[in-house]
Amino acid sequence: MKTVTLAHYYTTKEVQDMADHVGDSLDLAQRAKESNAGRIVFAGVRFMAETAKMLNPEAEVILPDWNSTCSLVEQTDVFDLWEWRADHPDHVHVMYINSSVGQKALADYIVTSRNAEPIVQKLLEKGQKVIFSPDRNMGNWLSRKLGVEIPSWSAVCEVHDQFDRQRLDESFAKYGGRIPYLIAHPESPMPILEEANYIGSTAGMLDWVDRKTLDDKDIFVATEFELVRMMRERRPDLKIWQVPVIADCRCNECPYMKLNSAAKVKAAIAGTGGTVINYLDPDMMARAKVPVERMMKFNETGKI
Ligand code: SF4
Repeated sequence: MKTVTLAHYYTTKEVQDMADHVGDSLDLAQRAKESNAGRIVFAGVRFMAETAKMLNPEAEVILPDWNSTCSLVEQTDVFDLWEWRADHPDHVHVMYINSSVGQKALADYIVTSRNAEPIVQKLLEKGQKVIFSPDRNMGNWLSRKLGVEIPSWSAVCEVHDQFDRQRLDESFAKYGGRIPYLIAHPESPMPILEEANYIGSTAGMLDWVDRKTLDDKDIFVATEFELVRMMRERRPDLKIWQVPVIADCRCNECPYMKLNSAAKVKAAIAGTGGTVINYLDPDMMARAKVPVERMMKFNETGKI
């Protein structure tokens, strides 16, 4: 059977080397949608494999390790989310793609870190009021950036939420008056985002570093360690550091992404391991697909 393997930037180099495509959640969702392969092995986390199945129901989608979830999904009870949405009847519900199919079925628009800002901006221009779930930090960032109140759900990414401003300031202090650059993913907490020279998606941050002209400044990056490794590999001429996490926290890597071991991905490619995504309720999938398709349409046309 023709098999395509998709790997997220946060998987290890060994796994990325086995993949046909490496990218962020938006890239990989698009790849899954356009793939004509009979089997898609998704080396990422569960909500990504579920989104791939939704966009390409004909393909057999395999998740190498069933336990590869995401804290944003796990911290969001779908019934509580339903009630929260019902408490805001005159708002458009914009939801980050880091959500389960059941959660997505409660959204009006799905967004990724790459297109969240322009999509919310367009909705505001149309006079809509917006609520945002499940990522509190991203919701707060959108609210601040766009200058409007956006009520946000309270879940966080357990990796990005641990980047620590006090320890960052201590690191910066060692540079004397020469302040290094700081770039950050919007899942990071506000004290980090407030200080950042650039805030963007994983692909956006990689691009920023790729295009950076060499000067004497170091770059601190607030995102998962694997991306920092990739940046260092692509730009050995720059000094690139990960922003420190709170003391004693072993959380600068996503434990769920790292469940995609090379052996498990290999077994999934061979069709001898992993979980086939075949448990999704068709009605639920149909409802969840509507806000995902709205995002895809925005990506193609710039319109909502
Ligand atoms: Fe979820 Fe954070 Fe891991 Fe991304 S890095 S999959 S948001 S826990």
